[in-house]
Amino acid sequence: MRVELVTIGNELLLGLTTDTNASHLARELASAGLEVVRHATVGDDDAAIAAAVGEAIARTGLVITTGGLGPTDDDVTRTAVAGYFGRPLGLDDAILGALHDRWRRFGRPGELPASNRVQALVPEGAVILENRYGSAPGLWIEDEAGRVAVLLPGVPREMRGLLADEVLPRLRARLGAAVRVVRSHVVRTTDIAESAVADRIASLAPGTLALPLAYLPGPDGVDLRLTAPAMPPAEADALLARDAAVLRDLLHPHVYGADDDDLAAVVNALCRERGLRIATAESCTGGLLGARITAIPGSSDVMEGGVVAYQDRVKQGWLHVRAETLREHGAVSEPVARAMASGARQRFDTAVGVGITGVAGPGGGTPKKPVGTVWVAVDVSGAMQVRRWIFGGDRAEIRWRATQGALEMIRRALTF
Ligand code: AMP
Ligand code: MG
Repeated sequence: MRVELVTIGNELLLGLTTDTNASHLARELASAGLEVVRHATVGDDDAAIAAAVGEAIARTGLVITTGGLGPTDDDVTRTAVAGYFGRPLGLDDAILGALHDRWRRFGRPGELPASNRVQALVPEGAVILENRYGSAPGLWIEDEAGRVAVLLPGVPREMRGLLADEVLPRLRARLGAAVRVVRSHVVRTTDIAESAVADRIASLAPGTLALPLAYLPGPDGVDLRLTAPAMPPAEADALLARDAAVLRDLLHPHVYGADDDDLAAVVNALCRERGLRIATAESCTGGLLGARITAIPGSSDVMEGGVVAYQDRVKQGWLHVRAETLREHGAVSEPVARAMASGARQRFDTAVGVGITGVAGPGGGTPKKPVGTVWVAVDVSGAMQVRRWIFGGDRAEIRWRATQGALEMIRRALTF
């Protein structure tokens, strides 16, 4: 089954918004066994939308659009596509009622604005795809010849929810059993260079990996994406699982997860299993480590508290780092990182204490302590580990990499 995508919005054409909907749709559809043969992007323009949808349907019989279902004047997808199919629009009372309920549920003042009413307009004969994530429902419009346009909202979270809940199940039902899917699996590594990963992979006997592999280095580490090209789902999943296991063994102990796994979530889970709580003392990362740990649902079982110890006097006053230590070694040093980690552990009375101190740049580097130098200490029940990293990248990347390094040190301390 072939499909085309039309993403709609002036902001996409102008490059002001990145078209994440197209990439998500393409991945999910390929994974379900559809062949995505073309993407187009058009502005919020009636004629342009009708033409793009019409051409796509003429080629493949199936088009999925995103965007332009909002309540404002520039949202014209609904009318443009209804026009193309020659279907009049009618007001759907159930949708209107749901819009009223939603307005009240979020405690918004007054009554539902009149402009929201257009979101309750439905082309005659269209199937309404319930949106549990926002206001505008999706629409499935099908003509007598079985040609289909699926209209999804532009807000990425709503689009993803509707795709998973309402669209993919309908498409799977049409595809039947004989599908060929394109699926991927990402093995996530950290604290190992891309070249070192490549060397280990080169050491495998030829043909050990059945599937093609892509290297995706980034601030989290090096991700390795295996992709199974167009094959039956069971075969794809089996090959992906087999190759992923090969990579996990080969790259041990650097593999911390798969696909979208976040190292902060992995560390949260490890601490929860072991009944350990974390305290942080952060200088150059300014609370970013605490933010990452607490971004994970359920982190209250794990995160006790943290100090942003940016200035020396905070390191001294709150964490009991000694003035002589700071004077002798400087704030960015092994002894200060150690003292911060154990100070955090003691002040918050936790099993795990983390200290981070470094030079995030772009200024402040010296020949001995260049920009990117970060000391991280992890104290687990009195067993201290300290490491110095020299991270590349700009300020934001150095700070992110420092939190990733700290999380990896906790993971290693708890796992091995
Ligand atoms: P719309 O449904 O067109 O009103 O879009 C609502 C929001 O979703 C806006 O903030 C858009 O910038 C965003 N959006 C629309 N289309 C896309 C897309 N293809 N990729 C990412 N974001 C989008
Ligand atoms: Mg729009």
